[in-house]
Amino acid sequence: MTAEIIDGKACAADIEVGLKQRITALAASGRSPHLAVVIVGEDPASRVYVGAKQRACERLAIESTRIDMASTASFDEVVSTVRRLNADDSIDGILVQSPLPAGMDEVAITDLISPAKDVDGFHAANLGRLVQGDTSGLLPCTPAGVMRLLDWSGVEVSGARAVIVGRSRIVGMPLSLLLAQKGVDATVTIAHSRSRELAALCRQADILVAAVGSAGLVAADWVRPGAVVIDVGVNRVDDPGTTRGYRLVGDVEATAFEVASAMTPVPGGVGPMTIAMLMSNTVRTAEMRSAD
Ligand code: NDP
Repeated sequence: MTAEIIDGKACAADIEVGLKQRITALAASGRSPHLAVVIVGEDPASRVYVGAKQRACERLAIESTRIDMASTASFDEVVSTVRRLNADDSIDGILVQSPLPAGMDEVAITDLISPAKDVDGFHAANLGRLVQGDTSGLLPCTPAGVMRLLDWSGVEVSGARAVIVGRSRIVGMPLSLLLAQKGVDATVTIAHSRSRELAALCRQADILVAAVGSAGLVAADWVRPGAVVIDVGVNRVDDPGTTRGYRLVGDVEATAFEVASAMTPVPGGVGPMTIAMLMSNTVRTAEMRSAD
C-alpha cells in the first residue's frame, strides 16, 4: 500500500480563500486585522517560523508588526511589551514566539496576553474553555490545524482509535481534547516518554499522531496497515548534500508511507496548517473586536 499524501499546503490554501473573503468584509467596515509578533532572542528556527507567519500576513493583507527583543531582555521587559500590546487598540492578535530564552516562564507570559487577543490559543481562559467542551473560542493553532486536515481529507474520526504520541501543552494535550470531544468522538490514547510498549500502542491506532520532536522515532512497523498518520514533528537532520546543510524530517519514518492509507508529509503537512489557523485566529479576533 502507498499512502495518499495529506496535502497541508493545499488545505491551507483553501482556508486562505475563505479568510480573504472575511478580510475583505472587515475592510469594508473600515478594519484591517493586525497581528503583533514578539520574538525574544536569536533562535534560528523561531526566525524561520516568524518569517513564514509574516509572509502569510502579506498574502492575506493582514497587517503585521514584529517586535524583536534581545536574548538578554528581562522577564519584566517582555511583560511590559505584552501589556503595551494588550492596551494598543490597533492590535487584534498577539503572539509571543516560543521558545523564550532559557529560564523565562512561558506560561506566565502567555497568561498575560489578553484572552481576546490570544491568537495562539494558549491562555488559560482559552485552553480552559476547551476542557469544558466549548470549542467556539480561540483554539491552539497546531491541534486545530490537525482537526481541519482530518476533516478536509475525509478521515472517519467518530469511533476511531486515535493514539497521540506527545502530551505537550501546545500540541498533544489540546489535540487529545479536540479528538475526544462529543461530536468528534474518537477514542483517544495519549502517550509520552514514560509510556510502556509504545510500538504496540501505536499499532492499535486507526489515527496515529506523532508530536514528539525526535526524527524517525515512530518506525514504519509501528503503523497499523491502513492507518492514517499525522506527523507533527519537525526535526532538522544534517545533510551536507543540501544548500542549507540540513533537511527537515518528521517524527515518523518516511517508509511508513508504504504502510499507512494516508499520511502527512514533512514539510508540507501540518506546518502550513498551523500558519493557516494562526491567520484564521487573527481574523477571528479582528471580527470579535469589531463587533464590540
Ligand atoms: P515538547 O517537547 O513540548 O513535547 C514532546 C512530547 O513528546 C512530550 O510529551 C514528551 O514526553 C514526548 N516524548 C519525548 N520523547 C519521547 C519518546 N521517546 N517516546 C514517547 N514520547 C516522547 O514538543 P512540542 O509538542 O512542542 O513539539 C513536538 C514536535 O512538533 C516538535 O518536533 C516540534 O518542532 C513540532 N511542532 C510542529 C508544529 C508544526 O506546525 N508542524 C507546531 C508545533 C510543534 P514527556 O511529556 O514525558 O516529556
